[in-house]
Amino acid sequence: MKLLRSLLEKNEEWFKNQILEYVVSHGAESGDVTADWAAFFANLKHGLVDLAPDTPPSTGLHGRFPTLFEQMDMPMFILDDELNLGAMNKAAAMFIGRDLEPGELEYARECFLEPSPPQSCESKSLTDYLPWLAESLRDTRAFGKIGQKIRYDIPVSLEDGERHYTVTVLDMPGTDDDSFGYAVVLDEISFGVEASRKFERERSRADHYLDIVGSMVVALDTSGLVTMINQAGCEVLGYEADELLGREWVDLVIPADQRGDIKEYLYLALSDDMAHGEEITNFVVTKSGAHRLIQWKNRLLTNEKDVPMGILCSGVDITEQQLMEDALAEKELWLRNTFVALGEGVLILSPNREILDANPAAETIFQMTNSELEGLPAGRLHVDGDHYEKFVQKTEAAFEDGRTARFEYVMRRSNGEVFPTEHSISMISGDDGSKLGLVSVIKDISARKRAEKVLSESEEKFRRIFESIEEGYMVTDLDGIINMVNPATCKLLFYDESNLIGKNIDLLYADEGERQQFREVVLEKGAVRGHQIHVSRADGASIVVEANAHLVLDDAGQPMALEGTFRDITNRIEAEKILRDREKQYRAFFENNHAIMLLVDPATDRIVDANPAASEFYGYPLDVLRAMELNEIDALSPEEIFMEMDKAREEGRTYCIHKHRLASGAVRDVEVYSGPISVLGKQLLYSVIHDVTQRISLERKMTKLATIDAMTGVNNRHQFFTLGIRELQRVKRYNSPLTVLMLDIDYFKSVNDTHGHQAGDLVLKMLAASAMSTLRASDIFGRLGGEEFAAILPETGLREGMEVAERLREAFSKLVARVRDAEITFTVSIGVTLVRSTDKTIEEVINRADEALYKAKRMGRNRVEQG
Ligand code: GH3
Ligand code: MG
Ligand code: MG
Repeated sequence: MKLLRSLLEKNEEWFKNQILEYVVSHGAESGDVTADWAAFFANLKHGLVDLAPDTPPSTGLHGRFPTLFEQMDMPMFILDDELNLGAMNKAAAMFIGRDLEPGELEYARECFLEPSPPQSCESKSLTDYLPWLAESLRDTRAFGKIGQKIRYDIPVSLEDGERHYTVTVLDMPGTDDDSFGYAVVLDEISFGVEASRKFERERSRADHYLDIVGSMVVALDTSGLVTMINQAGCEVLGYEADELLGREWVDLVIPADQRGDIKEYLYLALSDDMAHGEEITNFVVTKSGAHRLIQWKNRLLTNEKDVPMGILCSGVDITEQQLMEDALAEKELWLRNTFVALGEGVLILSPNREILDANPAAETIFQMTNSELEGLPAGRLHVDGDHYEKFVQKTEAAFEDGRTARFEYVMRRSNGEVFPTEHSISMISGDDGSKLGLVSVIKDISARKRAEKVLSESEEKFRRIFESIEEGYMVTDLDGIINMVNPATCKLLFYDESNLIGKNIDLLYADEGERQQFREVVLEKGAVRGHQIHVSRADGASIVVEANAHLVLDDAGQPMALEGTFRDITNRIEAEKILRDREKQYRAFFENNHAIMLLVDPATDRIVDANPAASEFYGYPLDVLRAMELNEIDALSPEEIFMEMDKAREEGRTYCIHKHRLASGAVRDVEVYSGPISVLGKQLLYSVIHDVTQRISLERKMTKLATIDAMTGVNNRHQFFTLGIRELQRVKRYNSPLTVLMLDIDYFKSVNDTHGHQAGDLVLKMLAASAMSTLRASDIFGRLGGEEFAAILPETGLREGMEVAERLREAFSKLVARVRDAEITFTVSIGVTLVRSTDKTIEEVINRADEALYKAKRMGRNRVEQG
């Protein structure tokens, strides 16, 4: 009984089912059994039954359990701890492939009635019969845990395919609470597993299908509970499927105010009355409280006997679509309102440009009613056929560029009036690109144009009046009656305004011929500019004015007035006359002057004019000279000219010294006096040229004379001292050595006395020439007077200077002057001195050299001494 009790306790549901099934299939008195068992399990559940071995739950049933055990379809094994087989039922014996011996059966019965440790009937292990079961039992590690029930499913690969079992393991507590073994029951669940697998597959396929379907799919049972909902449904509603399944659909997702209607609908639908439509559109409330509009297609679900089982609803969320449709409808309404209310005319045209519709503004613009306009070809609103053709071309061109055609165009009203409009035409295309028609927005801009014209006219008038306030401004009608004058007119003509307005302009003309000519030109050409007219002033004086005038046209292009400006050019004409006189004077002066004169254009360097004196001087005919450029006669390079100009400026000269080449090729020194001159409005440069060739060569000669000793060709005394002063300054600046030599011919008097003065001169010349060839170029040699000479040796110290002196002395002593048959030789005495820092003047130095010279004389001559 203990085993049974624990079986009951731990496996109540399963056992109950087994028993019920058994009872049902074996035709036992099911009422009796079920009633007993129901009571028994109820009591067991509530702990009212003490399942102690000596108090069986129902004596009536007591005897049946062993039979139940024996008859049970499920294999049942009693095992010890080592998995040795103790007892088994018939089903178990069949399961392992053999019959149950009568002894075994008896033993098994006893096991049930009186718990005792199982005695192995064959000392056979479960491993020998059902190795997979033994293995799984070991794996469960269930053994050793007393009072526990283990249940698991296990797949087994057998010869006839895969089977599935539910294995229930129950330990069987002994009297001293020791486990004496286990009962293992096998329940084949292969069919169930297969079926559930199949079901799973089907289910997942259906789920998958439903989940990939974009529409919401919801199934409701007959009481309105959700039995199924797909992914799309969950997504729209924002719920998890679990939150919806089994819930009342209407109460959960339908807005409160619609619940009654929907419930009514569902009731009718489930009564198989879909007469009011399988489709319904209603709002649902999502989990977050948002309203979504869903369009449903509903289908009644019935069983084989056509009994309604529920309703399958597939829904599409049309919230956005609806919003768009609403917006579109609203927009269309708005467009219609705009169309009617718009101040601008709107014509709706068919593709072939017939008027389909016109708004009130268009009616006003064209002065036609809508019904008159309707069906009218648009061309009829235009000036003429050609004009309309151009208009069409213009719009088509814009459409081709993908633009809205916008331009100003002249149109015609029903009364024939032509008026300016501003057009904006766009094409209406269907979704497939087909041309549905045109919308033409037309603005009557005649008022604006008029205003613009008036504005621009008056603006223009005032601009002219005020900008040229010094100029006279007048407006006359075509007959010459003065309508308007400005203050300048009065000032220039000495008239009061009142004496001019309303009078004929003829009174101002001093010359009848001029008046007629002026009017003719204006009327013929429409305008005249810069016309000179003699005008009589109010004070009787005649002045000359320069007048501009033009015809003023009306809107139709017809002349309606004359408008003109003028200014007094009497003074200018006077000035021009003076200028012309002056020009004559100038020309006479220019032509007849003996001075060489050129007129040069400084911009091009061209000789614009030259006078006869210039032609004569340069040796070119006048016309040739007048075609030449200045650089053809100027022998200086541009750089030299530039330097000379600089120099002239530095020296404060009013002239430049140039070299001009004559036709003969000769080059002459010239002084050029230049100045700007304005000739007939052009800035030119006049040049007066002085030939100074002769003077300059004379000057050069004179300069030379002033510095050179004529007889010997060496520096004269003055030049020697000039150069000496410069050298002394240099020495002081750079602190370089400088030596000075003084030399005097010995007994020169006797040369003269013996050979004559000319022989003396010859000696002097030879000495100078020899000295020049002996000394360096940088040395300065000069004749101080008579037979006295001196030398300045820059960069030369005393010792070196002494050597130079010695060299000179020796060189002179070797000179031989031949005069007739006589051969003259001579010697010199030389004094040498070094410039000292204390020396202030060159004279001081020369004196010291002189002293040294006389020392040399005293000491016997033909020698060099220092001092
Ligand atoms: P010393 O050795 O002392 O110098 O004797 P010296 O004869 O040279 O004496 P002094 O200096 O007194 O005489 C210079 C003479 O040189 C005097 C003069 O007749 C001569 N003399 C001066 N200038 C010229 C000249 O230009 N030509 C010639 N032929 N003789 C000149
Ligand atoms: Mg002498
Ligand atoms: Mg002398």
